[in-house]
Amino acid sequence: MKAIPPFRLVAEPLNDAAAALPTFRWAGDNVGKRHKLGGAPDFIQSPETPLCSCAKPMTFYAQLDSINDDYCLADCGLIYVFVCFDCFETKAMLQSG
Ligand SMILES: [Zn+2]
Repeated sequence: MKAIPPFRLVAEPLNDAAAALPTFRWAGDNVGKRHKLGGAPDFIQSPETPLCSCAKPMTFYAQLDSINDDYCLADCGLIYVFVCFDCFETKAMLQSG
């Protein structure tokens, strides 16, 4: 399985509506800022690495955080994206606290 070096992703608002969104009212300071590319997933629940159709463990590609209380993924959850660099199948899963 190919591993990708870690990058932090910073969400930059692309218009006034995005810039005007309120932040989380009660969540911890890091919630909403846990976006990342590569590295290792910060699993909230038990670790899960999906298998692709060619039966290989998939490479962790990205992690996308909840945005704010209006766009919260269950209980401040994260979406994890995996890819296979052989067949380029992708899978996404969500974990929540
Ligand atoms: Zn594959």
